[in-house]
Amino acid sequence: MKPLVITIDGPAGAGKTTVSRMVADRLNYRYIDTGALYRAIAYQAKSDQIQPEDDEGLEKMCRRIKLAFQSFSHGQRILLNETDITDFIRTPEITMLASAVSARSVVRAFLLEIQRDMGREKEAVFEGRDMGTVVFPEADIKFFLTASAKERARRRYNEFKDQSKQSLDEVEQDIRHRDRNDSQRDIAPLKPATDAILVDSSGVAAEEVVQQILAEIEHRFGNA
Ligand code: C5P
Repeated sequence: MKPLVITIDGPAGAGKTTVSRMVADRLNYRYIDTGALYRAIAYQAKSDQIQPEDDEGLEKMCRRIKLAFQSFSHGQRILLNETDITDFIRTPEITMLASAVSARSVVRAFLLEIQRDMGREKEAVFEGRDMGTVVFPEADIKFFLTASAKERARRRYNEFKDQSKQSLDEVEQDIRHRDRNDSQRDIAPLKPATDAILVDSSGVAAEEVVQQILAEIEHRFGNA
């Protein structure tokens, strides 16, 4: 099979991370979690006490930071100016702040180049919100993964209930709030690319979704 850029977009909690990782593993591709880049920006903005509306502050901050991924057999780590911040970017506060800074064009422009650079070698699965629409409009194959808000909230709640004090209702409220932010922003709003394959994961096990995606890839490009 020729080397591909595969994009998997969709709202929070649709199962993108699990599915994208599994697809990348099966194909022996790199897995790139672009949400972690936005979370890293949010983390630095919080440390520097820069408000998400402060475009000038954010722009200056972006000029000072270097972001990189490091892959290990047990997962991927994100480095901000060579410091591993992976364990600090999944808190509810950073999650909401990531959604806020991701609406700023200075942040999106900064991360656009970083993401495109990562795609040059191909053989990668990019997970995000605008991979198929903005970052890789020419991607070889695009998927848009969805699930009902209730189901997405339940998944997030189960995933983080040991680390977070949020109730299921609060998680659902945050998810709906983020959905609104992400799909109503002016730049790179969350929406399926016109040529994306829609996959609804409500009530479907991750393995089954992965099989569906691999079957589509095989159908278009032949056996891996
Ligand atoms: O995927 P994850 O939940 O980690 O993403 C955190 C936030 O980053 C999202 O709510 C979204 O606002 C933003 N994001 C984005 N574009 C991407 C990936 C994430 O705007 N490609």
